[in-house]
Amino acid sequence: MSFRNIRPLHILWQDGIADEVINHVNSGIVGILSWAEVLGEILPMHFVQRRQKNWLENGLLAPYQSLDWHIELARSNSKLAGHLNSTSLLNSLRENPTCTTDPRYELVVVNEPLHWHDTSLRKVGGIGRQEQGAVITAHRDLSADRWSEKTQRKKELEFPLSIQMFVMHELGHVFGLFTKGTAKENPSDDELRQSHCLNECVMYWRDDHELNKKIERQPFCPSCLKQLRNYFLEPETIIIDVDDTL
Ligand SMILES: [Zn+2]
Ligand SMILES: [Zn+2]
Repeated sequence: MSFRNIRPLHILWQDGIADEVINHVNSGIVGILSWAEVLGEILPMHFVQRRQKNWLENGLLAPYQSLDWHIELARSNSKLAGHLNSTSLLNSLRENPTCTTDPRYELVVVNEPLHWHDTSLRKVGGIGRQEQGAVITAHRDLSADRWSEKTQRKKELEFPLSIQMFVMHELGHVFGLFTKGTAKENPSDDELRQSHCLNECVMYWRDDHELNKKIERQPFCPSCLKQLRNYFLEPETIIIDVDDTL
C-alpha cells in the first residue's frame, strides 16, 4: 500500500480543559484514523498549549508562540459576545511560519463557544478546513437555570459521544470529505444540510444524539468511507469498491 497526504496530527487544547475531555477527543482521533486505515501512518502528537520559551513578553502573549495567543486573537476578532471567531483561529494557525517548516495537521480544542466567521454569527461546535486542521469546542451550556436537572444530566451523558463525533466530522472535512461547503456567506440550515452527507453518517450536517448512537459502531457511510480511504491512498492503489459489509 502506498500512501499520500501523510503528516503528523498536532493536538492542542486550551488551558483548563479536563483530561477526560481529551480522552474523548483521542477516541475520536483513533476512530477516524482507524476507519481511514492510517492509524499507523498519521502520528497523533499532543502539544497542550504549545508554549514556546518566549511565549510571554513583558506579560503579553507573543505572536505565534503559544495557542493562548491564537485564542486571544480569535477572541478579539469575535463578532459575537462570549464567542471565539473560529475562522480567525484557523487562519492564524495557518499563518504560523512553523506550518511550512514543520508540516502537520492540527486539531485545536477550546472550552469557549465558537461562532463561524467575520460575517456569520452562526454558533458552531467546530469547523474543519481541508488539508489544514480543525477547531472544536468542548463548551456546553449546562447552566441549571437554562435546563432542567434531567435535561442537564442527559446532556452530560451525551457529551462524550458528541465530542468523539465532532472530532471525526471535522477531521473528515480536513481529510477531504465535503470540503466545498456552500457558496454562500450565510447559508440556511437547509443549504448546510445539502452541502453535507445525507446518509446516516458522521458527516451529517449537525450533531444529533439519536443518530450518533445509531452510527457509533460504524460512523462513516460506505460512500464517505471510500472517499476517506482514498484521500490517503496513492491514485494507483485507490479503492474502487468498499466491501458492503463494512
Ligand atoms: Zn461539517
Ligand atoms: Zn456519508
